[in-house]
Amino acid sequence: MTEEKRGLSHDRMPVVFAGHGSPMNLIQDNQWSRGFARLGDYVPRPAAILAISAHWYVSGSYLTSNRHPPTIHDFGGFPDTLYHIEYPAPGDPKLAEQVRDLLGEWQVQLTEDWGLDHGIWSVLYWMYPEANIPVVQLSIDRKLDVRQHYAIGRSLTGLRNQNILIMASGNIVHNLPDAFRQIRSGTTTTPEWASRFDETVKQALLAHDIETLLSLYPGTDDAQLAHPTPDHWLPLIYAAGASTEDDPIIFPNEGFDLGSLSMRNVIFG
Ligand code: ZN
Repeated sequence: MTEEKRGLSHDRMPVVFAGHGSPMNLIQDNQWSRGFARLGDYVPRPAAILAISAHWYVSGSYLTSNRHPPTIHDFGGFPDTLYHIEYPAPGDPKLAEQVRDLLGEWQVQLTEDWGLDHGIWSVLYWMYPEANIPVVQLSIDRKLDVRQHYAIGRSLTGLRNQNILIMASGNIVHNLPDAFRQIRSGTTTTPEWASRFDETVKQALLAHDIETLLSLYPGTDDAQLAHPTPDHWLPLIYAAGASTEDDPIIFPNEGFDLGSLSMRNVIFG
């Protein structure tokens, strides 16, 4: 669908939060993979992508500076075919340098020791199947607190005026132990705490209520259940940081996979 058909006009690039879910979406034609394919309809074609993934949650702040970032198959126990899929998008060393300078106070280092992890490429694989838009990944430093993550996201906002797509990938509810328990039991249903947390986040996003968003995790019991660890939560904080109050909020796809994985996607702008 074209931008005109959606009635969207863009003076600057929207921000995308992708709920990536299971790597199986790479080889399944389902609601989620089709949803990833549609994400590209909501944004003008970017010159490059700055990506933040739940799966690069490390001690330290890094940016990938490889000209040809490798496709990282950072998942285990899946069918062989998944490990042979490549997403050969180029890197963008100049953009990496620019973002490093932009984030000066955070002392971000360039590295070629990472590439594209599946939090990013499993979505881009559907969204931009030609793999011809350069991608730079920014790590999530586990030593920072939620307001510091938000501040980094905020510092990235100006990139939107340079035709750069800021894309963060995690899941708004992500409790894998609960999902695996449900899968073993033979049926998957979405627990009340999962629906409730997803709805609370949805309403906070719609209201541009950043204070609520920043205080949700790890403040409540629902949040602890939704995120036994913070890695899949924090990408949303980066996306919210890069957004502004005048960005319309769109949810192109929503729902739960495997009981307790929220597959909600968010477009800011
Ligand atoms: Zn993940």
